[in-house]
Formats: sequence, structure tokens, C-alpha cells
Amino acid sequence: MSSEGEGIGEFDLIRRFFALRDVGGAAAAVVILGIGDDAALLDLPSGTELAAAVDTIVAGRHFPHGTDGRSIGHRALAVNLSDLAAMGATPAWATLALTVPDADPLWLERFSSGLFDLARAHGVALVGGDTTRGPLTVSVQLLGHVPRGAALRRSGAAAGDLLAVTGTLGDAGAGLKFATAAPQAPIRGAGGGDPDLQGAAVRDLIHRFDYPTPRVEFGVAARGLATAAMDLSDGLVGDLPKLAQACGLGAHVAVERLPLSAALRTAATLEQARDWALAAGDDYELLLAVPPGRFAALEAVAARLNLRLTAIGELVLGGAVTWSLNGANFVPAVCGFDHFA
Ligand code: ADP
Ligand code: MG
Repeated sequence: MSSEGEGIGEFDLIRRFFALRDVGGAAAAVVILGIGDDAALLDLPSGTELAAAVDTIVAGRHFPHGTDGRSIGHRALAVNLSDLAAMGATPAWATLALTVPDADPLWLERFSSGLFDLARAHGVALVGGDTTRGPLTVSVQLLGHVPRGAALRRSGAAAGDLLAVTGTLGDAGAGLKFATAAPQAPIRGAGGGDPDLQGAAVRDLIHRFDYPTPRVEFGVAARGLATAAMDLSDGLVGDLPKLAQACGLGAHVAVERLPLSAALRTAATLEQARDWALAAGDDYELLLAVPPGRFAALEAVAARLNLRLTAIGELVLGGAVTWSLNGANFVPAVCGFDHFA
């Protein structure tokens, strides 16, 4: 965080960068009382349940020190939108606990524009928060709603249900690696060494890390079709066992089916691309279980949203999660992310 610009006081800061930023008429649900009192008052639509999630991102842990404030503001909300998407819930209200080392207006402007651009896109109103000084840490709590009983859980799928993922996997993990690697690190992908192609692909991947796209509309539309869902934040190898376990089942994945983007295939070897798709975090794609007879309907929902949906395996009886590559048994080299491992 730069220290350019004049320092400003806490109340100025809140007013200037957070309280006066409207999300327009798009807010999905009613705010009775927003920023300025001791707590917000919100009106839950009738017949719905409240969905609540909170995620904290810490400089040097969830994003490199020196990351653009715009990306940090986007990420802080995106990771929570992804959690609500995985429940099939409609996001509506957010609170923001912001800890910054200093009140730098230039940085705050970048941060709040990243946050509010995404908030506006999803009709989310910022209704409160807390502002403190300290090492850069951003915690967003996101509240939303879902028709009573209709939320997508991690549990609920049956043996034989297909496993499907949205979008492509491994891009953000690759982007993070490229963003933080030494510039002379050798890249040998399908780009065949063409520096322009490689450069454009690497920029795409870094953008995928900096600006994750939560699959909110798809999650809502998957209600009634998917039997279980979760978002992929820690990598498929780490996350899939959580869904399988919640269902009391095992799972099998055919690794050659993992959806890889053109950018990832250009910037990395097939083997490296697969490793990232399996184990790198930060994709924020959805992993869903769907009965085989409903897969086409779920695929049609994805197509309507211009989103790729790929069947990668299935849930099976027993508790084991197994992997194969072109029919042969496969053991992923790497595990999911655990902050305390
Ligand atoms: P309190 O002392 O009651 O916690 P604060 O002085 O911390 O109140 O905050 C004043 C108002 O500004 C409250 O409505 C609070 O929710 C809101 N607020 C504080 N910081 C932020 C922030 N970073 N983003 C959004 N709203 C904030
Ligand atoms: Mg407070």
C-alpha cells in the first residue's frame, strides 16, 4: 500500500469511500436502515431463509503484498459471492470490516471501486462495517436469501450422480504463480514459445487470479437441478472430498476431462496445466452433483449464461475419492490448501 496522498480521518474515510457509494436501484432486497446507525435493519423477502457467509482475506496470504487495491476490493466481495452462489442463494447485503495500515485516499479509491463495481453488478448493498488500523486485512460478511428449503447444500447427492464443474480450472492458480514467479522463469506451453501468444495467455491467467468471477446466476439457476454444490476455493483435490464426505459417499474423477482454458494450455504444458487444475486454489468455480437424467438441463442453464459446464466424474458408494487418467489409476501429487497444515 502506497503512502501517497493525504491521510484522512476515520469518519471522513467511511463517508467518502463507503457510505456515499450507492449500488443504484439494483439492490436485490430492502434496506430499512443502512450505514450510519449502530446496526443495519434489513427486510428478508417473505418465504425465504437468510443465507450468511463471511470470508477474510489477508495481505501476503490470500493475495501478494502490493496487489492493486481494485483487485483486493473485488476479491473481498467475490469470495463471499462465490459462497452464496454455491448455496443457490441470491446475495443482497454486505458488511465490511476493513483493517488498513494507513488511510491512503488513492488506495481507498481503488479498493472501493473494485468492491462497488462488483456489488453493483450483483445488486448488493453495503449496509455497515468497521474500520481499523493495522496490517491490511479485509473481511466481508455477505447476507442473501433463498426460498425456504431450496438451498443447495454440500450434502444431498446420491451415488451415481454426476460431478460437474463450471468454467475452467487451474487458471487462477497459474496466474498467481506467473504473477509472483521470477520473470525469466521458463514457460513451455502449447504456445510453442511464441512470446506474444505466451504473454497474452499469462496476462489472461493473472487477470483470472486478480478478478475471480463468482457464478452467482448459475448457482441460483441450479436450484432444483443440482443435488449438492460447493465452490472451489482450495483446489479440486482438497475440496471434492468435503462434498463427497458430506454426502456420505466416495467419488471418482477422470482427470483427462478437467476443463482447461486455452490460455492455460498456451502458457503451460499439459501436465503442469492438469496439476494446477487439480490442486491450485482460487478458481471460485462451482462443483455440483447432478443426477445423470438432469445433466442436460443443467448444461442448458449454463449455456444460457455463456458458461461452460463439464462432467468430470461421479459420486460412488463407499468413502474413497479416486482419480484416473485415460483409464489408468492416478494419484494427484498435491493436496488442497490448509491454513494450519
Ligand atoms: P460503531 O462505533 O457503532 O461501531 P462506527 O463508528 O464504527 O460505529 O461506524 C459508524 C457507521 O459506519 C456504522 O453504521 C458502521 O456500520 C459504518 N461503517 C464503519 N466502517 C465501515 C466500512 N468500512 N464500510 C461500511 N460501513 C462502515
Ligand atoms: Mg464499529
